Amino acid sequence: MIRKYPIEKYRNIGIIAHIDAGKTTVSERILYYTGISHKIGETHTGESQMDWMEQEKERGITICSAATTCFWSPKAYLTGEKTNEHRINLIDTPGHIDFTAEVQRSLRVLDGAIVVFDGVAGVEAQSETVWRQADKYHVPRICFINKLDRLGASFDHALETIYEKLTKNAVAIQMPLGEESQMEGVIDLIKMKAYKFEGPNGDDVKEIEVGDEFKVRAEELRSRLVEKIAGEDEELMEKYLDGKEISEEEIKKALRKATIDYKLIPVLCGTALRNKGVQLLLDAVIDYLPSPIDIPPVEGLDPKDETKVLVRHSTDDEPFAALAFKIATDPFVGTLTYIRVYSGTFKKGNYLLNTNTGEKERLGRILRMHANQREEVDEIYAGDICATVALKKTTTGNTLSDESNPIVLEQISFPEPVINIKIEPKTKDDQEKMGTSLKKLQEEDPTFRVKTDEETGEVIIGGMGELHLDILVDRLKREFGVEANIGRPQVSYKEAIDSNAEAEYKYIKQSGGRGQYGHVKIRIEPLERGKGFEFVDEIKGGVIPREYIPAVQKGIKEALEKGVVAGYSLIDVKATLYDGSFHEVDSSEIAFKIAGAQALLEAAKKAHPHILEPIMKIEVVIPEQFLGDVIGDLSARRGQIDQTEDRTGMKVIYAKVPLSETFGYATGLRSLTEGRGTFSMEFSHYEKVPANIAQEIIEGKRK
Ligand code: GDP
Repeated sequence: MIRKYPIEKYRNIGIIAHIDAGKTTVSERILYYTGISHKIGETHTGESQMDWMEQEKERGITICSAATTCFWSPKAYLTGEKTNEHRINLIDTPGHIDFTAEVQRSLRVLDGAIVVFDGVAGVEAQSETVWRQADKYHVPRICFINKLDRLGASFDHALETIYEKLTKNAVAIQMPLGEESQMEGVIDLIKMKAYKFEGPNGDDVKEIEVGDEFKVRAEELRSRLVEKIAGEDEELMEKYLDGKEISEEEIKKALRKATIDYKLIPVLCGTALRNKGVQLLLDAVIDYLPSPIDIPPVEGLDPKDETKVLVRHSTDDEPFAALAFKIATDPFVGTLTYIRVYSGTFKKGNYLLNTNTGEKERLGRILRMHANQREEVDEIYAGDICATVALKKTTTGNTLSDESNPIVLEQISFPEPVINIKIEPKTKDDQEKMGTSLKKLQEEDPTFRVKTDEETGEVIIGGMGELHLDILVDRLKREFGVEANIGRPQVSYKEAIDSNAEAEYKYIKQSGGRGQYGHVKIRIEPLERGKGFEFVDEIKGGVIPREYIPAVQKGIKEALEKGVVAGYSLIDVKATLYDGSFHEVDSSEIAFKIAGAQALLEAAKKAHPHILEPIMKIEVVIPEQFLGDVIGDLSARRGQIDQTEDRTGMKVIYAKVPLSETFGYATGLRSLTEGRGTFSMEFSHYEKVPANIAQEIIEGKRK
């Protein structure tokens, strides 16, 4: 197998931004300029972008695909030479950045990112959130200050807000050639040339000299750029101190290294809507963002011995390893599983091992998604991102690995939902669509559950936190057009026991017709958290006939689900049936089931039962001056602070807080920190509820 594109010519990138900064417009322009998109859709004109996308979809164009492959030859727009072609895989990142598995995974599979800002507002609260998330996953990035054609736009102001709120290591490598209605193009500060984008779609690029009115500012920014770069490279530092000229090539090389090491962050600019600057942005993707071989090798565990860490380098020579990062429904092909190949090669039609489930999967069809077509491919290589069709046993987060060299890239055990919300369709029409839409969302996200309350018939959705469910309800509306009302969030409490206990129950009924007789003796013991329910049958000599034993087990299980303290399910219990008796005529399955259930209730009451509550792991990122207030507030919410640390000029607090105390935290944190604090939260574990609070739960005062 021979690859067509050398791996060093790959760029697996994502665009991250807060909503409205222009992520969609930038993505579209990228697809247009990379020569594949046929036409430019515009949100502001009569032909709205959504309509355009709908139409494109009908024609089989997948602009919104989870990963779109396109090609780019830097500077070909000036020289016409396409010899230096690169393959860019543009990976879609969810618009909402939170702590759900999906977001983590999409950041995980990309090697670099473009962060888009609004040229009027600069850094907004939401851009801080996405930035901190990218920090967490060590994603090298470049910034694009967009919308510089807008009234009130200011590159300098936006740059200031980046220095101030995000990082002092940002360096402008461009500045705009005019702003607001005068915005005509971009000045490249490394080359010290200006570029104008002419023609209806800005594809006619002209290189010109930097005009006098821009020279002073351009020189200022360039000196800062050179100084910063010299600071990252010893050789260049010497030259710099000696007052020697540093060449364009030297600057680019050192800047590439510093960007990949996340020491410097190049800042570019333009206006995507007016078609100015996107070609240079694509050049910068190639020049500064890493290829798969520029980033550290991926690590995983040996499924046979989970203490052993295995490493896979981005090369075709190592055993095959890929991560399934997204499942999406495609109107033409059905379910697509998107994978990122970290190492090795693979020929279609062969088998791979899903190391999370232990099952083999045959990859019969592999597709590469382009903006306007799907390409069937026969072979895939290290660094590739593609979609596979009809994988039945693979879900998001699974590793597909060479059978004889298995590796698990991501350990996943999906926790049970810790929060439930009632959801009601607004109209009859919504009702019809809601069921199937919820089902689709559930297929994509293993931590999202849907159930119907047997007594009331209400639909209840469950998830990993308030924000998680908010996002899903929002997606329901945006992607499926289903409007729904939701109730108040309900914490999913559990119950547990602390000690062993025994109980005996005899169920006898003799009224009219046939009587009932079931008699059991059971012993219960607490199990470690997460072990679930275990049933042991110690009946000897047929004191209870075989055929009734499953009924006893069933009775116990059903009683556990109803709990004994406040109606929440009792978890992590081992129940042993060790004695009992039966009656030749009157015994029945139902009688033994009732006896089992009653015996469990009695035993559990003696075994010191109590309520458990979900505890969330929370990470709060704030400017230092708010540290005291934010910690005080977390303590008032029964939070335990684990640690605080510094991260690129901000303070990070790691804490554990009971889920029930986190409702409304987003609003609370915003008002404590003038809108600058961000946080993310995930489920950690279940813990015993303090007595006073348990009392409130039992009395129904606390939801
Ligand atoms: P997203 O929410 O980040 O995907 O943002 P969109 O790409 O949908 O853009 C949001 C709005 O900003 C739309 O109305 C766009 O037409 C507009 N927009 C995007 N880029 C620019 C730009 O460069 N200049 C101006 N004036 N508007 C822009």
